[in-house]
Amino acid sequence: MPSSSHDVAIIGAGPVGLSFALALAGRGLDILLIERQSAEALAEPAYDGREIAHTHHSRAFLERIGAWHRVPANAVSPLRQARVLNGGASYALTFDTGTEGVEALGYLVSNHLVRRALYAAAVAAPGITIRAGTEVARVSTDAAAARLALPDGEEVTATLAVAADTRLSRSRAQLGIGISTYDSGRAMLVGRIAHEADHGGVATEWFGYGQTVALLPVNGNLSSLVLTRPKAEIARLQALSPEAFEAEIAESLAPRKLGRTRLASPRYAYPLVATYARRFVGRRYAVIGDAAVGMLPITAHGFNLGLRGAETLAREVLAARSRDLGAPDALGRYEAAHRLATAPIYAGTNAIARLYAEDNPAARLLRHAALRLGNNVGPFRRAVASMLMDRGSSAA
Ligand SMILES: Cc1cc2nc3c(=O)[nH]c(=O)nc-3n(C[C@H](O)[C@H](O)[C@H](O)COP(=O)(O)OP(=O)(O)OC[C@H]3O[C@@H](n4cnc5c(N)ncnc54)[C@H](O)[C@@H]3O)c2cc1C
Repeated sequence: MPSSSHDVAIIGAGPVGLSFALALAGRGLDILLIERQSAEALAEPAYDGREIAHTHHSRAFLERIGAWHRVPANAVSPLRQARVLNGGASYALTFDTGTEGVEALGYLVSNHLVRRALYAAAVAAPGITIRAGTEVARVSTDAAAARLALPDGEEVTATLAVAADTRLSRSRAQLGIGISTYDSGRAMLVGRIAHEADHGGVATEWFGYGQTVALLPVNGNLSSLVLTRPKAEIARLQALSPEAFEAEIAESLAPRKLGRTRLASPRYAYPLVATYARRFVGRRYAVIGDAAVGMLPITAHGFNLGLRGAETLAREVLAARSRDLGAPDALGRYEAAHRLATAPIYAGTNAIARLYAEDNPAARLLRHAALRLGNNVGPFRRAVASMLMDRGSSAA
């Protein structure tokens, strides 16, 4: 059987696996990415309904690894203001560029365009080989190397294996790393809505009547609709014709005063299940991206944290390269830093999901109190704003 040997083997060429490879590129390393999807699907990924809100930090990192300039400028939608409302109440927790002293709170880009840009950058980068259209069937590691078996029996060995292979990571399970899971019992429906009025770059999120609705501003008179309801409800909405769906959500969207609205893309549904790996590293092995921390998408942190983890791991691995790319102390430093960066946000996001899933009077009151606290307590407000924008210059 054929075999090959590399410095680093990455399982999964999703956005985080590609970002990690790019963060290592150009330093003389031999980096192999193995991806189940075809090369064609990686080069021209299909629209999947996700509009990713990038923090300032993520944008700077994507610039450094040569991907951001490959996203068409008109596909980057700046977020000028974010408003969070509770049910029918007019009181809103508001963040805007004026108060925060920035030109944008964040930058929305469709997931498929970020993935396309990252793939193009990886193809052009020195030292990166992409094996698409195959998969890693089995991973094992020993003191000398990580061994990855492909379905045809081929074996790939590497000094370090890094898995960015989804929140359901198979390699993580094979190496005995457990996860904690939170299933909210809800699902998220996403898709684009065209409307008559200008959104002014304002993102709005509001709660009530058993649902959460967010509208995220996309360039042109377009918004990304993000609707969270119990799973069965989302399945019912998915099954409606576009016309019946438009009629049903028109009432929910009316308070936002955007004029007539219509569906402008297919609808996609995602279950709201969060996962957190009990360990981020093993012998000659590390998990990054959703395989490490699978966030609920309600606070728009999954990819941003994935990029932070990729950046941290790349820095530690490069620092250890003269000794051993898979040195346990380097992997340990990644684990500690990434846990610190992610655990509070993960717990906070799950707590918010619990609070907003409830529609009883106590939960409504608590939500209202939380919004007022957010607006009126300076340090709290600043903490939330800095978490949303993440203007720090390098990974912790
Ligand atoms: C509706 C929605 C909205 C979101 N919005 C935001 C947002 O605004 N901001 C934000 O930061 N995040 C957001 N996210 C989260 C973000 O999309 C994810 O965090 C991100 O896609 C994770 O990237 P990844 O590379 O870790 O994993 P994935 O994108 O899941 O990629 C994993 C890759 O690994 C491959 N693979 C798996 N197993 C194998 C194997 N055995 N062999 C070979 N290949 C394999 C898969 O084919 C896949 O290509 C959102 C998510 C959703 C669902």
